[in-house]
Amino acid sequence: MIYFDYNATTPIIPHARRAMIEAFDCLGNPSSVHAHGRKARKLLENAREQVANYFSVPARNITFTSGATEANNMILKGFEGRIFVSAIEHDSALNIRKDTTIIPVDSNGIVELETLKTLLSTVNLPALVCVIAVNNETGVVQPIDEILQICSDYNAHLHVDAAQAVGKIHLNWNRLSSFTISAHKFGGPKGIGALVINGSLQLNTLIEGGGQERSLRAGTENIIGAIGMGAALTAPQFNWETLLPLQQHLEENLLDICPDAVVFAKKTQRVSNTTAIAMPGVLSEVQLMHFDLNGISVSSGAACSSGKVKTSHVLKAMGISDELSKCALRISYGWNTTKEDINQCIAVWASLFDLQNQKNIKGRARYA
Ligand code: PMP
Repeated sequence: MIYFDYNATTPIIPHARRAMIEAFDCLGNPSSVHAHGRKARKLLENAREQVANYFSVPARNITFTSGATEANNMILKGFEGRIFVSAIEHDSALNIRKDTTIIPVDSNGIVELETLKTLLSTVNLPALVCVIAVNNETGVVQPIDEILQICSDYNAHLHVDAAQAVGKIHLNWNRLSSFTISAHKFGGPKGIGALVINGSLQLNTLIEGGGQERSLRAGTENIIGAIGMGAALTAPQFNWETLLPLQQHLEENLLDICPDAVVFAKKTQRVSNTTAIAMPGVLSEVQLMHFDLNGISVSSGAACSSGKVKTSHVLKAMGISDELSKCALRISYGWNTTKEDINQCIAVWASLFDLQNQKNIKGRARYA
């Protein structure tokens, strides 16, 4: 089996696995005052330091959560004021609040900066802008520095969903009002992430109970997860740039085989590990099954819920027709991906294309 779904989740790196296995022997609850509790607290705070060091922010700015979904919910529901969210956000940010104002994107999936300025110029309440740094479906990178400048001109907070960005792009982490991370997107375990708040953003709490995480997020902390996340960020980091030639090789070949195919946002700045492509006339689920039957795990560009393929709100916001969007495929890769894997993926795409052409020829013959 070949894995081409890194944007859904990545393999756990050995460094993180080892650290977690060791941590399983830690008995105490970090809130307990006895020696066992203190030991657990030390491990948890050490993990927090590791995360903080990676992003060059003070450790107290980090609140551990169950992942990016919770962190996005926490900031958006906890913020008192007006919320502006880009049209291409992950579902965990998009319509979390009914009073959300959507910021449109252009045909390349980039936030419309002039519209953002116009929107912000009309508010007098505290405002929070939420933008995904790297889109999970297309890999498109947002101009976060420019958005930050606009937010600061209009006195608005900027929250960045960086779930897909960590390690892949450079951001001025300590200048963002807040950001979200999720360990399983960079070699850590599932079920742990963080909301990082820089400065003095006041939030209403989502989960109440004990006073953990400076009373921002009650509940006994996921120490093993936090240790896994800290270890993933202190391990020697993968250079995502090394995937660029593979991405180029993949896309050139896929387009050579099927010249009508569309690579979404091809000319825009994208991360090196994501190819969102559509083979017109072949539904995503048919493509996905064909790849699966041939030993390759890819994802449909559209989000699947209850067995139905719904068209992607991301592609829709970019002005892509529903017809084409229903044929979208997301191929995402990472540190274990080899040129042979990419060639295998190309071969399976070619066989899908041939199969489809044969079907079309047979269909035409039947009606001739
Ligand atoms: N935001 C983005 C951009 C994502 O890609 C994801 C995961 N697909 C999430 C948020 C949610 O992350 P988690 O799985 O940690 O809840």
